[in-house]
Amino acid sequence: KAKASGKRAFLRYADAMDGDIRRRANLIAALRKAVERGELSLVYQPELVLAEGRIGAVEALLRWHNPEFGDVSPSEFIPLAEESGTIISIGEWVLHEACRTLAGWHRAGVDERLKVSVNVSALQLLRSDLPDSVSSALRRCGLPASALELELTESMLMANAEVASERLHAFRRLGVSIAVDDFGTGYSSLSYLHRLPINTLKIDKAFIDGLATPDDREDTTITTTVIAMARTLGLRVVAEGVETPGQLAFLEQNACDIAQGYWISRPLTEDACLRFLLERQAQPAPRLDPDTAPA
Ligand code: C2E
Ligand code: MG
Ligand code: MG
Ligand code: MG
Repeated sequence: KAKASGKRAFLRYADAMDGDIRRRANLIAALRKAVERGELSLVYQPELVLAEGRIGAVEALLRWHNPEFGDVSPSEFIPLAEESGTIISIGEWVLHEACRTLAGWHRAGVDERLKVSVNVSALQLLRSDLPDSVSSALRRCGLPASALELELTESMLMANAEVASERLHAFRRLGVSIAVDDFGTGYSSLSYLHRLPINTLKIDKAFIDGLATPDDREDTTITTTVIAMARTLGLRVVAEGVETPGQLAFLEQNACDIAQGYWISRPLTEDACLRFLLERQAQPAPRLDPDTAPA
């Protein structure tokens, strides 16, 4: 009897496995056609420069809507695009689309200092033609290199130290800036990062979550230490995932440079983001979300 129920459990498990594998295979096949079928889009999340009360940049975040699978989250499809190599053509599309959008906003009257930040995957970074793709996207859209920042994770920089260093120096020569995304979650040594031409550290949301909650001394210490260290190294610091006014106040008091998160704004569609930017420009005082602002 035990044996029979063990077998049933195994079959259920095998079925579930089978379902997972099938979903993955189907998603990978659908992803290959996603660009040409126009199923991808970008949303843009504003980054607030704390000392100036101005939006200094927007991060481009990829969205995928497929007729069969509906909205698929980037945390599910980016790894699949990476494994299957499709991330190369998707990444090209993202770069060009982000540059096209920013150039359009500048023409529509958005502050010329506004930059766009684009996430780059590990596989893209390995490609020796990435710097050429980047400069051609900028050229086609008529943007200066200073309008673009590329986000790479610590683990990508560590996994392929030599190639990473070569690419980063190529970006530096172009004049494109580099941010280390999800900072604090990898295990890079600072002395190593210091040798690379990096401009910005983005402190992972996991550390911001614990800020301004009195019981979380650790996240508070880590965050203030990263800010101090970044200052010494001449790097800009962005806090990711700022969701409360308390967190924002803490970051302001501790001289963090930039805040990004739902409290400032959720990621917005191209049109909604343009409206947001123009509205803020007209009235640059820090604007709190009326839905969540304390009474
Ligand atoms: P990431 O680059 O660290 O982006 C930040 C993620 O945190 C985004 O999730 C954003 O929507 C979310 N977020 C921002 N503020 C808040 C907040 O206050 N609270 C919470 N709970 N979440 C917040 P998203 O858009 O789902 O993207 C997930 C990840 O997928 C990104 O993490 C990035 O690693 C990857 N990704 C997104 N777009 C692209 C892309 O175009 N290319 C590549 N290679 N990766 C991308
Ligand atoms: Mg990012
Ligand atoms: Mg991040
Ligand atoms: Mg992340």
